[in-house]
Formats: sequence, C-alpha cells, structure tokens
Amino acid sequence: MSRASKIHKNEESKICPECGAPKVNGMDCWEQLGGVLAWEADDPELLAEHFKTVASYNLQHPSQFTDRILADLRAVFIEHLDNGLPIMEMRKRLGKISGGKNRVLKDKSERHPVQHDWKMTISDVYIPNHPENAAQRVREWAAVIRQEL
Ligand SMILES: [Zn+2]
Repeated sequence: MSRASKIHKNEESKICPECGAPKVNGMDCWEQLGGVLAWEADDPELLAEHFKTVASYNLQHPSQFTDRILADLRAVFIEHLDNGLPIMEMRKRLGKISGGKNRVLKDKSERHPVQHDWKMTISDVYIPNHPENAAQRVREWAAVIRQEL
C-alpha cells in the first residue's frame, strides 16, 4: 500500500500502531472517530450507522479487548452486515456479554497491538469539513473489514 510512502518520513511515527491510520490535522485515529461521531448530531443517516462506526473502529483496535468479547463483537458485526441483525438485538447481545462480571478490556500490560494494513481506516471516513456522504463511507469501511474477518 502506498499510504505510508506518501507521508513524510517524520510523520510516519504518527501512524496509529494498530489500525495504521495517519493523523489528520494533528488528530489521531481516536480523535478522528470523535469527529465522525460529532457529525451524527446533524446527519440522521450517519446516526443510523452508529453501530457500524463504533464496531468498525473497535475491530481495527482489537488488542484492548479480551478474546471472548472480541469473538462476540465479530460475530454480532458479521450477523448485522450479512443478515441485517437489528440494532436492538445487537445491543441486547453485546450488553449481555459486556455486562456483569465479564471483563471487556485487557489490562494495558496484556495488550500487544499488531499493525494491520487495512484498505480503509477511520481516516478515510473522517475528511475534515466534509461530513457529506459520511454514512456511505462508514458502510464501505465496515464492508472492507467484513471481508477480512
Ligand atoms: Zn488506530
């Protein structure tokens, strides 16, 4: 992929060590996710894809999650994309697995991020000052991830 080579050498350290997204206007991938979520307030179509946005981000940052939660998140994501599992049903399932005594996040010391060369990352969705068609970009992003699961 040419994404890294397009970026000045000094900037390479600014690529997310896990999802590989470059910084955009000094914003790291987490801040870019926040930028997309902020658009939801003015974009009902994007708001309707909220699960895809958050799940796509999480699936590109798997090292923080326990194996069990990650497996469940993958399964629900696939069912949603392939079979249209309704949002309410997904919330119920994910709420059940993340509730109670189940551990969702690994301790920092147990996390070992491995960079993966994705075809799309949050930086392809978060285009500063271009919220139009963001919902479409989220759907494409989710589909790219689905292909690799
Ligand atoms: Zn990242």
